[in-house]
Amino acid sequence: SCVGEGTYGKVYKARNNESGKFVALKRIRMEGEKDGFPVTAMREIKLLQGLKHVNVVRLVEMMVSKGSVYMVLEYMQHDLTGLLSLPSLTFSQANIKSLNHQMLSGLAYLHRRGILHRDMKGSNILLNSKGELKLADFGLARVYHKRRKADYTNRVITLWYRSPELLMGETVYGPEVDMWSAGCIMLELFTTKPIFQGNDEIHQLETIYSILGTPRESDWPSLKDLPWYELVKPQEIRSSRFRDSLGRWLSPAALDLAEGLLFYDPVKRLSAQGALGTKYFLEEEP
Ligand code: ADP
Repeated sequence: SCVGEGTYGKVYKARNNESGKFVALKRIRMEGEKDGFPVTAMREIKLLQGLKHVNVVRLVEMMVSKGSVYMVLEYMQHDLTGLLSLPSLTFSQANIKSLNHQMLSGLAYLHRRGILHRDMKGSNILLNSKGELKLADFGLARVYHKRRKADYTNRVITLWYRSPELLMGETVYGPEVDMWSAGCIMLELFTTKPIFQGNDEIHQLETIYSILGTPRESDWPSLKDLPWYELVKPQEIRSSRFRDSLGRWLSPAALDLAEGLLFYDPVKRLSAQGALGTKYFLEEEP
């Protein structure tokens, strides 16, 4: 049966006749492709083939059938956005901590291997019935160079999960852009709603300012060098109401972690590995 629709084709649920196991078949549409096999699909396949981690969706094999090419992925019953939209379902504090830990473990693995996901959002975070969380959809992912940061497009990541430096035109970036998205998703796990819901780039920044306050050059020295800074500069200085508005959802150690993931200055933002070593995971119950 068809379970989803991606950018380059439908996704089906299927069962392997030999093992009896369920898989997801991601069909790569070739019709209307003037330039042959789609480059985004090729990129996703090449990346996924080299990855093996409990928190990254596994590409089991490739399959060619009746002229179509399919990615055979381990089958995942749910995605995070779908689950969070169910009014009847509430995650316990322990559930949330486990999901956060799994998401950050998947990201830490990717970043260790020099891979940026670049499209972190609820619908790309899959869960199975065992409560395992896996990062999926590597269509926008790419390898980055640890020392020499290359010039990339800044039109990545769904608006609501896009970091302020990307919104201000940065094209030289690294894993920090995924960490901002992870911070947004962490908060969404607690509140069940995306935290920064802008309608366009300018409004997205406004929405971020309205919660985190406006960024200060003293906290973010490279701010004034961002390509679009003069264009999108905040009109008035505002202070943060992050702790006041989220304090009723998050414990003190969770607030610290979320704040660290949402640091304006990408240099100061927590890494995935760093996030896994914070009090929220190591000291605070549950
Ligand atoms: P795209 O790269 O075009 O966004 P996705 O990889 O996100 O496509 O897949 C589209 C949809 O197919 C997802 O939103 C999800 O509903 C479903 N899907 C993708 N991978 C799996 C999987 N491994 N198991 C179950 N469903 C999946």
